[in-house]
Amino acid sequence: MLPDFRLRQRDYLLNISRAMTARLDLSSLLKLTLQSASDMLAGQAGLITLRRNDNSFAPYASIGLPIQALPLFKPLWEDLDTKSDQPDTSNITFRLALASRAAGVTLRQVVALPLEIGLEIIGYIFIFRNHGAAFSENDQHVLSSFANQAAISVQNARLYQEVSAERERLNAIIENSGDGVMIINPYRIIQTWNKALAQQTGISAEEAVGRPCYEILNLQTSQGVSVCHTMCPLIRRPIGGDGRLYAEGIYHRADGLAITYADNYSLQTNADGEVGQVIANVRDITQFREAEQLKQTLLSVISHELKTPVSIIKGYAGTLAREDANWDKATLADGLAVIEEEADRLDRLITNLLEASRLQAGGFKLCLTDLNLADLAKNAVENLQTTTDKHQFELDFPEDYPVISGDYERMWEVLTNLLGNAIKYSPDGGTISVFGDVTHTDIVQLSVRDEGIGIPSANHEHIFDRFYRVDNRLARQAPGTGLGLFLVKAVVEAHGGRVWVESTSGQGSTFTIELPIDPQNRT
Ligand code: ADP
Repeated sequence: MLPDFRLRQRDYLLNISRAMTARLDLSSLLKLTLQSASDMLAGQAGLITLRRNDNSFAPYASIGLPIQALPLFKPLWEDLDTKSDQPDTSNITFRLALASRAAGVTLRQVVALPLEIGLEIIGYIFIFRNHGAAFSENDQHVLSSFANQAAISVQNARLYQEVSAERERLNAIIENSGDGVMIINPYRIIQTWNKALAQQTGISAEEAVGRPCYEILNLQTSQGVSVCHTMCPLIRRPIGGDGRLYAEGIYHRADGLAITYADNYSLQTNADGEVGQVIANVRDITQFREAEQLKQTLLSVISHELKTPVSIIKGYAGTLAREDANWDKATLADGLAVIEEEADRLDRLITNLLEASRLQAGGFKLCLTDLNLADLAKNAVENLQTTTDKHQFELDFPEDYPVISGDYERMWEVLTNLLGNAIKYSPDGGTISVFGDVTHTDIVQLSVRDEGIGIPSANHEHIFDRFYRVDNRLARQAPGTGLGLFLVKAVVEAHGGRVWVESTSGQGSTFTIELPIDPQNRT
């Protein structure tokens, strides 16, 4: 049987250990330690100092002492030898007498021990008595177990602080990463869903966490096949290669926007080599893929559309230049007309390409002058009439059709593109009408109507997109880049206007542009 004294000491220490596991904050734990030690040693007050960053010591927890008086006790610990585990406390009683008088308390005896972690002294514990009986060696011995307990508390608290600071730092990095980050467990259930992902997908962390990633971020191929269900690299680990776990696919947001994501997965394994969690770096590569696609389209447009007129010009020029042939005047004139026509086509194409790249680079500025759209339309018709004898042109503008403020060169491009298309997409000829209308005191309209192949309604919203061409045999027979209407729309919108088409497949098309009379005073 342990003597009563030892039993009490054990109970106190047990109590402190329990408090430690219950994660009481450090200052409460140290107060509890002081209180227990003081009870055991028949003391009336106690103090624990801890080492600060600058290596000096400062009070951290106390019992039985007025808080505001604590600095007055500094002489007690100020020159304790921090290297020795048995500090020289020979004149400490004298210092206590001075300090307690200054603090207005009666304390006569003191016992002090260092708090140690390994070889490092991290603080001191002091227990005070207000009566004359000096502390014995046995008292010191009892105090050492409390000093150990206090040192462990401090170390635990520090480790805990370090771990939580590290966790917070990691969370902050994940949360504020510009790329999407998702952490999933081995069953592909989402554990973490960061801010970037929430913003990009429109799905909040609350909605995503706890749900399977293949439901929340269901990636698809451009053909609509689910990447997550057929080729998730977490299920079908790639064989060979660089061992990288990678998936790419299109995510369709609730509002219809499509985002192309590239996911890189890294597996976190535990000591037994089992996968604990998977960190997925989810990067939005939509623009990158679009740029790649555009580059491809541009290359094929350039190689196909530029090559055709160049080879026609070269063929005609070579034939007409043959020395052994004696061409009559009419044949020469015909040949030269073809060369001129093809050169014009090349010129339009190159202008469109340049304008499109200027538009992309943001260098699109209007140069506004007074513009008579009716005159401009007349000139454009006269210009293009020479390129066709299958089409008749009609112009119809009201007498009071107003002069507007617009960019001459750009509006010329708009009309040439619309009229050029009307000719191009009416391979059997017909009438092309250009007519104006004033729908509002400060808005004018101009329309170009043809009797050509028409445009299926499903294509109406796309034909103004860059490089978009209707995908049917009739439309494909005509040469083109899919840039003309894209530029028409950009120019008209830059003027504060809009453009639209009315058309039925096989029954001709009517393109209308609507422009403010003065774009700078648009109401
Ligand atoms: P391009 O004519 O060089 O292909 P555009 O941007 O001018 O490019 O036109 C885009 C597509 O819209 C064309 O490829 C064609 O399919 C369709 N389109 C444009 N104008 C007409 C028209 N007047 N009639 C029928 N289809 C047209």
